[in-house]
Amino acid sequence: MKLNLYNTLSGAKEEFKPIKAGVVGMYHCGPTVYNFAHIGNLRSYVFADTLRRTLEYAGFRVRQVMNITDIGHLTSDADEGDDKMVRALKREGRPMTLEGLRDVAEKYTNAFIEDLKSLNIKLPHDMPKASEHIAEDIALIGTLEEKDIAYRTHDGIYFDISKFPDYGTRGGFALGDLKEGARVVVNREKRSARDFALWKFSKSGIGWESPWGRGFPGWHIECSAMSRKYLAQPFDIHTGGVDHVATHHQNEIAQSEAAYGAPLANYWLHNEHMQLGSEKMAKSGENFITLQTLANRGIHPLAFRYYLLQSHYRSPLHFSWDALEAAQSALEKLLFSIWSFSRNSFIKPGIPYTQSVCSYAKQLTQASHDDLNTPTMVSILNKLIHDVPAKPKEKLTVLFEDVDFLLGLRLKELSEKIVDIPGEVAELVSEHDTARKAKDWQRSGILRDEILKRGYRVQNLSDAQASLVTRKLSSLL
Ligand code: AMP
Ligand code: ZN
Repeated sequence: MKLNLYNTLSGAKEEFKPIKAGVVGMYHCGPTVYNFAHIGNLRSYVFADTLRRTLEYAGFRVRQVMNITDIGHLTSDADEGDDKMVRALKREGRPMTLEGLRDVAEKYTNAFIEDLKSLNIKLPHDMPKASEHIAEDIALIGTLEEKDIAYRTHDGIYFDISKFPDYGTRGGFALGDLKEGARVVVNREKRSARDFALWKFSKSGIGWESPWGRGFPGWHIECSAMSRKYLAQPFDIHTGGVDHVATHHQNEIAQSEAAYGAPLANYWLHNEHMQLGSEKMAKSGENFITLQTLANRGIHPLAFRYYLLQSHYRSPLHFSWDALEAAQSALEKLLFSIWSFSRNSFIKPGIPYTQSVCSYAKQLTQASHDDLNTPTMVSILNKLIHDVPAKPKEKLTVLFEDVDFLLGLRLKELSEKIVDIPGEVAELVSEHDTARKAKDWQRSGILRDEILKRGYRVQNLSDAQASLVTRKLSSLL
């Protein structure tokens, strides 16, 4: 079956063809670790993880690289303002030294990795740090200088876009005219407003030594240098959020191709933004929502993952608490159904599916191969759960082997966890059942509320049976 992916380079869906048969090299622009990741950033990484899962499900061996931008990211794409990390040092009252910088970066890198784990995102094979690849940046800038594509100004070394005639012309990377005043040219020595920094001289005194003076690599150069080092050039797939298309990725392409005469990557995939109201979620201001903010409202990270998967990665997603809470309740119901299938069945991996269950696995593959159509995959999952004639045992095989592989919702683990009830709650349940048998409805009502308050739900069963209690996902936080 063909795997089709939307490639920003051509502006169309294309069949994916790897450079080397059976193997995929993939690079994701990682986080700038001067603050916690917000849930918009995490959308970008759930998308990257879904892509990896789809490729692996299709039989490819994937090498995944995600950088950590721990230095050198300026506050605007236009190469102005302070370095974001330097601002973080000021905010956190840390010393203005490279050690201080490393401490801040380490704090937020660790928090980021915890976020990835909570969302069941597979950790990339390499997570190179920008601060440990200065030599590679310097070598790349040196090559551009030798080819007369880089030039010096009072505040740094710049890339001369007039030397790369394809700049801003390709597919989804095509640029409109630069609007008057859209970008203030602070540095009047720049030959063109769109020329961008390869190396910036340090204003604060901290930075790395280079042949041009002490400073920081430009943000774009880091990704060009690290992706080439870990994956070679060209590699297969490069991803990031749509905010990276016009500037960051455009500039990566220009400098890597100009320096080495080969494309950087063959497929460029971009996720749309998570919005709050009419604005893009950002790392400052009130619309800064993290996984911790969700946990404070009782939302489990995998319920957030389920919520994200309900939308296609190329559709803008307008964040709503109501929709997120509804996604969590829907997932809780699914988990209870899944647990009830497993009650009397013993599943062996790899059992052959009946015709009907087999068709679900096929539909899932089709949807994932259609540019990662996760909303369709979620509806296939729901259809399968509610398919009465399908044998429960076989449904479970598809759910635990195919759906869990592709969507990463940990259905098996969570469906077991929701019926894992501690002794004190089990005692309340047995008291509750005794009260029900004695038709003491007042007492059974009080006990039911008590059970609910502790984060458990009494499932409605007939009077003849003992009650069944499940945990709410919020109680697993
Ligand atoms: P940053 O840490 O700001 O460099 O961003 C990390 C990743 O998140 C990049 O791929 C961005 O393009 C992406 N991103 C930033 N804001 C959003 C958003 N509101 N929605 C989705 N992705 C975003
Ligand atoms: Zn990047």
